[in-house]
Amino acid sequence: MTNTRNFYINGQWVAPSTPNDFDVINPSNEEVCATISLGSQADTDAAVAAAKAAFPAWAAVPQADKLALLEKLLEEYNKRSGDLAEAMSLEMGAPIDLSKTSQVGAGSWHIANFIEVYKDFKFDRMLRADAPDDRILMEPIGVCAMITPWNWPMNQVTLKCIPAMAAGCTMVLKPSEIAPLSSIVFTEIVDAVGFPAGVYNMVNGDGVGVGTQLSVHPDVDMVSFTGSTRAGSLITKAAADTVKRVALELGGKGANIIYADADEKAVKRGVLHCMQNSGQSCNAPTRMMVERSIYDAAVKTATEVANATQVGPADKEGRHIGPVVSELQYNKIQDMIQVGIDEGARLVAGGLGRPDGLNRGYYVRPTVFADVSNDMAIAQQEIFGPVLSIIPFDTEEEALEMANDTLYGLTNYVQTTDHAKANRAARALRSGMVEINGTSRGAGAPFGGYKQSGSGREGGVWGLDDFLEVKSVSGWVE
Ligand code: NAD
Repeated sequence: MTNTRNFYINGQWVAPSTPNDFDVINPSNEEVCATISLGSQADTDAAVAAAKAAFPAWAAVPQADKLALLEKLLEEYNKRSGDLAEAMSLEMGAPIDLSKTSQVGAGSWHIANFIEVYKDFKFDRMLRADAPDDRILMEPIGVCAMITPWNWPMNQVTLKCIPAMAAGCTMVLKPSEIAPLSSIVFTEIVDAVGFPAGVYNMVNGDGVGVGTQLSVHPDVDMVSFTGSTRAGSLITKAAADTVKRVALELGGKGANIIYADADEKAVKRGVLHCMQNSGQSCNAPTRMMVERSIYDAAVKTATEVANATQVGPADKEGRHIGPVVSELQYNKIQDMIQVGIDEGARLVAGGLGRPDGLNRGYYVRPTVFADVSNDMAIAQQEIFGPVLSIIPFDTEEEALEMANDTLYGLTNYVQTTDHAKANRAARALRSGMVEINGTSRGAGAPFGGYKQSGSGREGGVWGLDDFLEVKSVSGWVE
């Protein structure tokens, strides 16, 4: 990777207008692993101008030709999968095996799924068979700013950039400054494909700098953002003056309702899911709600599973969890563990400090609190670390009410062998996604949240729709 300090603007790697070095820290050992540049207003303006200039010609490129470029992009992405895996392990601490499979795999899965959706997507539609003069034209919205987080870097970048390219939009990607290295590899991949200059641009920067500059920019038509609810709210305000479209994928505090008739692996599955990626997933099932008759057994199992969860450096092979991404996140998680103790929750696994033998690196002990009540801060606030809260319940109504009693509404989980009860819960839960009995979403399913988990949907036909305007034409004669 030779371009860490450069940006990609109008089909070229270019130096920042003003040098502004920023160190990327390897969370496994707290050492500097790369240096990038943070962009300034001149860099943002140059990237947006390139995207604006490229837009009319790119929008007009026939669907089949765009499709051929996306197919080549998938090939190049797969060729560079080893580099992408290493970059993500280094920058955000995903253990190398998780990085190769889930982190890189999420990106190739999304690219392949969008290609399938795009092949049959109709940009030009009749309103109805009995209204032949009415045409619906689906048109690209224009210049898009993609602002992405550090926790699932390629998942987020591909969920935004691929449908935008397919829709005929042009774009400026601003990846997380904490984990920018995989996006630099992604940019090399895009460069190798040979898109017309200006279709895709990448500028590194932080939220107060490039992130805000993109959000207020008069020539940006849409901001697609994934990250914290705090930043999503700031971006929405910044984008309001220019009435941009804003698509938000924000935080979550997923409930995992485990009924007494759940399958025997439900508790273990829930704990492992919560700890995956060191708990740094917006859709993590962090509130485990357990029916009282199996509560004690569930707490025992959860304790055993957490205690058996190994923690270690990202470059080590195996099924352990890695460090959390940064000192800031480490300290936030420690504070929340202390809050849980102070609130009177019962600490049954993990706790404050690093796991034994790991003195350097942002390693957190897999932690489980039992006897949590849903109004405690550890049940309401997103901790974004390997910390599980277990809450007992007595009735179906109580479980559903508690699950919905949160500012968030991203993914909720239901475990029961009674299919009618599961489906009832799925209808009652106020969230963009519900996963029953460990069944993950299929190819092309939409991802997104209700309430303060965001707006908009990524993936599948909905993900493409997000980047399109709908034009209604009457008086159309074929
Ligand atoms: P963050 O909000 O701090 O940063 C995300 C991105 O936004 C970064 O690129 C950052 O530079 C930028 N940014 C920050 N402040 C900004 C501002 N004022 N204006 C413009 N850009 C700004 O979040 P993070 O710490 O990188 O990521 C963790 C959060 O992301 C968690 O809350 C998590 O739940 C959420 N997340 C949500 C989803 C989802 O799809 N719903 C997916 C992954 C992560």
